[in-house]
Parts: sequence; structure tokens; C-alpha cells
Amino acid sequence: MSPKFKIPLADLRAQYLSIQTELDEAWNKTNVSSGYILGAEVEAFEKEFAQFCGASFCVGVANGTDALELALSACGVKKGDEVITVAHTFIATAEAISNLGAIPIFVDINPDTLLLDPARLTSVLTTKTRAIVPVHLYGQPVDMDPVLTFARQHGLKVVEDAAQAHGARYKGRRVGSLSDATIFSFFPGKNLGAYGDAGAVVTNDASIAAWVRKARNHGRANKYEHEFCGRNSRMDGLQGAILNAKLKHLEDWNLLRQEHAARYDSMLQGIPGLVRVAVSPDCKPVWHLYVVRLKNRDDVLKGLKDQDIEAGIHYPIPLHLQKAFAYLGRKKGDLPHTERAAAEVLSLPLYPEMTTKNQNVVVRVLKSLINNAH
Ligand SMILES: *Cc1c(COP(=O)(O)O)cnc(C)c1O
Repeated sequence: MSPKFKIPLADLRAQYLSIQTELDEAWNKTNVSSGYILGAEVEAFEKEFAQFCGASFCVGVANGTDALELALSACGVKKGDEVITVAHTFIATAEAISNLGAIPIFVDINPDTLLLDPARLTSVLTTKTRAIVPVHLYGQPVDMDPVLTFARQHGLKVVEDAAQAHGARYKGRRVGSLSDATIFSFFPGKNLGAYGDAGAVVTNDASIAAWVRKARNHGRANKYEHEFCGRNSRMDGLQGAILNAKLKHLEDWNLLRQEHAARYDSMLQGIPGLVRVAVSPDCKPVWHLYVVRLKNRDDVLKGLKDQDIEAGIHYPIPLHLQKAFAYLGRKKGDLPHTERAAAEVLSLPLYPEMTTKNQNVVVRVLKSLINNAH
């Protein structure tokens, strides 16, 4: 299926066509070996991806949400525990916490980077706090050093949600080896995407890796022995094969995203009413999304759509105001920076295969829409 818009937000078809032979070979090879669940292709990917992240272990699972639930569980998070995270993220972050019977405790974001603000951790610490889940949203890592220091001081576990940040660097290191565990999603549209659902837990901790490895496969120790009740959250062999073929190109794709982001940065400088998301000098983001903030966001979104340009909102309703989390009793006004971001953010088209010509079109239309509003 071709993208619905002349300029789409992302273009998976273009990516497939750019390395079609490799992907078809990977797919066919798995069919010939019939390694459909886990197996050699998944093992090979686990090894390569751990190495890519600079970590010791990678355990492939069925999706990113499961990865987070399993990683938190492996860290000892259980019913009644409090887990600190942000409300400016995809629902899966808090859903995984909630599904363990633990309580998501939302802290407000840094108004410039739109990421977890480590300075606010103290304000929500209680005797029930067990873990922190920093979210590397849009592909930019959270300022991890103060988070890790705080966690060490208070005996907390840290599990990073890097579902949007494959390959992103914090102080020169790739995310995946900074904390107790890091989770990734390989949802098709992510920087590294499978052809269906897939996810992974990456860690330097052998006991976390070993526990997740059993838990994803019915608590299995060997073919017939089950040490505990786990679940079925295994990665498909076909997905392992596709991911392994795509991983070889991830660095190049991320470089292209960085180039496109730099072009947007320079072209969108000094436009009244348009605010770019700040990037910390400690970080090298991988630009899963290129996000700007606008007061008249909804009008601009519609204006772009009318000119056949797809844009997105990530995310329009902060999690503390979602019906799913009404049970937490949070209300409008609790997280002012988060709520303002939700009202103003707009994701512009950005993907490795995007042409300069199309990028120029997006900027021209965007500028005219902003000018018309003034
Ligand atoms: C995509 C995503 C997830 C969930 O991953 P799935 O593979 O879709 O389960 C979790 N957190 C964030 C920030 C995401 O973007």
C-alpha cells in the first residue's frame, strides 16, 4: 500500500524497497528453516543488538510493552509499589507499570526538552517508591546521571523506556547499558522496526536477563520443566530475521534522520510562534520524531493535511488525564508543563528516505500557515 499522503510522516514502503533483496532473503531463509518461534534468527539478533547497544545481554520478546512489564518484574516491582515516570509519553509506559499492580507516579517534564526532569524526583519520593522509568521520548535520552545518582541514593531500580531511541547516545554511550535494564520496541514505525510486533529487554545484569528469558517462555528452565508461571511473550523467528537484516542499516538511517533534523533546525530558526524541542549538549538524539511547538497547533495540523502533508501529535492527551488512569485521581493542572506540551506539540514528517525537496515543501507550507495566523 502506498502512503496516503503525498508527504507522509514516515514511509515504511520506501525503506522496504531500499533493501528489498536483503529483507526477502531473510524472510525466505526463515521459512526454509521453519524457525518460527525464537530459534537461530532471534538468537543471532539478540547477540547483534546487545553488541550494538554496548550491553552484555538482549532478550527478544513479543513487543515493547511486554518488555517493560517483564523488565520491571525482573527488577522486583510488584503490586502496590510506586514507579516514577512521566505522563508525556505513549500509554504503554504507564500501562506496563499498572498491569503489574504497581502505581505509576507521574512527574512533570522539563519544559524545554519535554523529558523527565530529574530535579522533580525528590518531590514524589515515598517509602513505597521502587523504581524509575525514564522515557527517551522522540529519540532523545533523558539526563541520566542525576536519575542514576538519585536511584542509587534511595535504593531504586531504573528501567529505561528506549522504545523511540535505538542508537541514541548519552554522554557518548548508546542507550541500553546505562541503567538496570532498557526496553526497546520494534513496532514497524520505530527507528528499528519489525514486520509486526516485537520488543526486547537489554541489560548488563545476568540475573535480569536470565529471569526475562524464562518468563517470556512460560517460566521454562528446559523443555519440560517450568520454574514459575511466566507467559508467552516470545519473539517470532521471522521478526528476528528482519530485524537482523535491518540492524545493519540502522546507523546509516539514524545518520540520515540526524541530517534531516539539522536541516529542519536551520530552516525553522527564528520563526515567531514556533518553538523547537531543546536538545541537551550531552545527548545525540536519533530523531524518531521531529517535534515543534505551536500555539495554533490544531489549525496548522489541519492546514498541512489540506496540502497533503501528514503531521502527527505525540501525544495529545497526557496520561494522567486519560480515562485509563482516572483511578489515580489526578486532575487537570497537576502537571502544567506536560499539559502545555500536549496542547502544542506537532510532529513533522521525518524519515531516512525523505527528500530535500519534500522537506523544503513542508517548511514552505508550515511557514505560510504560521504567517496566515498572525
Ligand atoms: C512504542 C512505544 C512503546 C510500546 O511498544 P510496543 O512494541 O508497541 O508495545 C512503549 N513506550 C514508548 C515510548 C513507545 O513509543
